[in-house]
Amino acid sequence: MTNGSQKSGQRTAIVIFHWSFVICQIGITGRERVAMAKIDEFMIGVDLGGTSMMVVALDSKGKILADRARSTKPELGADKVMERIADTVEKLLFDIGKGVRKAEGVCVGAPGVIDRENGLVVRAPNLNWTEYPLAKKLSQVLHSPVVLDNDVNAGAVGEHVLGAGRGARNMVAIFVGTGIGGGVIINDELYYGGRGSAGEVGHMKILADGPVCGCGRRGCVEALASRTAMERDVESALKAGRESAIPEIMKRDNRDRMTSSVIQEALQSRDALMEEVLRRAQLYLGLLVASVVNLLDPQCVVIGGGIVERLKEDFLRPVQMTAYEHFLRVKDSNRVKIVASELGDHAGAAGAAVLAWRALKGMDLRKSSMTNDK
Ligand SMILES: [Zn+2]
Repeated sequence: MTNGSQKSGQRTAIVIFHWSFVICQIGITGRERVAMAKIDEFMIGVDLGGTSMMVVALDSKGKILADRARSTKPELGADKVMERIADTVEKLLFDIGKGVRKAEGVCVGAPGVIDRENGLVVRAPNLNWTEYPLAKKLSQVLHSPVVLDNDVNAGAVGEHVLGAGRGARNMVAIFVGTGIGGGVIINDELYYGGRGSAGEVGHMKILADGPVCGCGRRGCVEALASRTAMERDVESALKAGRESAIPEIMKRDNRDRMTSSVIQEALQSRDALMEEVLRRAQLYLGLLVASVVNLLDPQCVVIGGGIVERLKEDFLRPVQMTAYEHFLRVKDSNRVKIVASELGDHAGAAGAAVLAWRALKGMDLRKSSMTNDK
């Protein structure tokens, strides 16, 4: 996974770090203060979801200094949600002992269509927002520059720079949850496409006239392999009279949705319906991965989301098998890694902070984080 450009990146990062370190050691007061401020700098990343938000502070070496999670409560309205974000950021600054300072910069990964140039959340059905000027409002409250991106794009960047996709120049991330989202990295950069909406792997249509998707169309992967799709398949099988332990597990765990933990428990009790529904979802996901690989030939496909975090290799293995079977180029197919995400529910927030470093300081953390690691 090492190539020439990474090596030179490593060297540069080592030199910069070494330089700051030397100046700290010299102890010339004025210069020391400058060097210390460099080491001390951090960016705030926010992963804003429909139910909860995750906020992290990330230093320039890609280290998460602190994190905080909080419920979003979209029913309170956009301004209140914005205030909840601001409040959580301020608490986080306090946590890391920087309460008297403002954040150098903030990036929010928000769900839905984002106008990055104007800092607008154009449309976010999960939050019930249209044309909301989140960057401007949050910036006024926090007195810090704020940029926006899509939440899944941020997650892809997180995995690429700090997680399972490190070292891959070309990478695709697929996150499986209530929906299926994705992000594409080409030549180490997030690929936005002509209108800024690239990477929607969940809405690749793989079954004509298949089940209805959240987008209103039929047969998208999201309608076939998301947790929502699995839940729908289980419900219709139960209605048709199939036996299953799932309703009992949900009742016992006091769950009204078929969460990843319910799926895990059902699998542990060898529930035939759960196994069957999961296998189908894994098949469609495998076909999705193969299609993505045939189109882009990335070095790495990272698969994340709650269900992957719970089931790990048990979830991944059948997806990998189907994917490899459907690669057009069979030769050296093992050079395409299909791996589980490493950052878990920090991927989006950490990635947002990486994007803040990039957008507000022109800093590429990919280089320094690799130095950290090796
Ligand atoms: Zn769709």
